[in-house]
Amino acid sequence: MADIVQYKAPTSLDEAAGILRAGNVTVLAGGTDLMPQTQAGRVKFQPVLMNVRRVPELRGIAEEGGVVRIGALVTITELLESALVRERLNLLWQSCDHFASDQIRNAATVGGNLCNASPAGDTLVPLLALDATVELAAKPNGTLQRRRVPLAQFLLGPGRTCRGPAELLAAVDVPLPSAEFAGEFYKHGTRPGLDISAISIAAGAVLEGKILTRVRIAFGAVAPTPIRAPRAEAALEGRVPDEATLEAAASAALEEIHPISDVRASDWYRRELVHNMLKRVLSHAGQP
Ligand SMILES: Cc1cc2nc3c(=O)[nH]c(=O)nc-3n(C[C@H](O)[C@H](O)[C@H](O)COP(=O)(O)OP(=O)(O)OC[C@H]3O[C@@H](n4cnc5c(N)ncnc54)[C@H](O)[C@@H]3O)c2cc1C
Repeated sequence: MADIVQYKAPTSLDEAAGILRAGNVTVLAGGTDLMPQTQAGRVKFQPVLMNVRRVPELRGIAEEGGVVRIGALVTITELLESALVRERLNLLWQSCDHFASDQIRNAATVGGNLCNASPAGDTLVPLLALDATVELAAKPNGTLQRRRVPLAQFLLGPGRTCRGPAELLAAVDVPLPSAEFAGEFYKHGTRPGLDISAISIAAGAVLEGKILTRVRIAFGAVAPTPIRAPRAEAALEGRVPDEATLEAAASAALEEIHPISDVRASDWYRRELVHNMLKRVLSHAGQP
């Protein structure tokens, strides 16, 4: 704490990117990760603390051209209150419904959840399944520039992303899945609302007749970042979700995960959870 020498509260994205360009800045959004991390000594404040909560360009949820743009400052509560998110990005909505307590949900932002890059970050798992892209803004030559990175490439490891020190996460873009796409988010923790996940699963598909199509599966807390499960997806795509198919998908998923043992669960228990809970979640896949 003692290392902060300047506090900045920009009121535009341009101004925020300019402050970041000057260097030595810690970005503050809801503070629900940053404050406990700095108090525990795991993260050190930079000399400039920049509170981005007054930047209007980082707010709002809007659909345009089949893509839902969610501003980095959108809170978990705002995601839960959005009819668009509830109806069309229901996997993301479900993850917010499993997220912490009301007090944390009111402050915690989607941008903070993404930049914190926890392997167990709850919104990351459905956003991966939904093929989200993040938008990063910076002013490298004095003019505001933006680049888009698929979420799967943005996340590099626990607490690590490809965001440069002069870049601000501006928004996350989510292509609308087809209206028939349906799925389920599952989170296992000792107290599911209040605990960080021991594992989480986001799985969805479109049921065409009895056949599963457009299958998407992502896992949290079973690898250094949340991951997609392409082999499990392939084991289901174009198939009837009978017992043999679900077992094949659950077995394929076990080849894709690399869980560790920690205070929340052993690697053995995480593998058991993935195998058994994926089958349960998939037995509802495609059904609204
Ligand atoms: C009691 C408690 C319960 C929790 N439960 C859950 C849970 O159930 N699920 C879950 O996933 N998480 C949980 N968390 C973690 C935390 O609430 C989330 O990760 C939250 O989304 C972080 O958002 P924030 O706005 O508070 O981020 P902050 O703490 O403000 O920032 C987090 C990090 O991201 C950076 N950052 C933030 N915004 C930007 C931006 N726009 N551009 C660049 N960098 C940025 C900050 O510099 C910091 O490094 C919990 C935390 C607490 C304290």
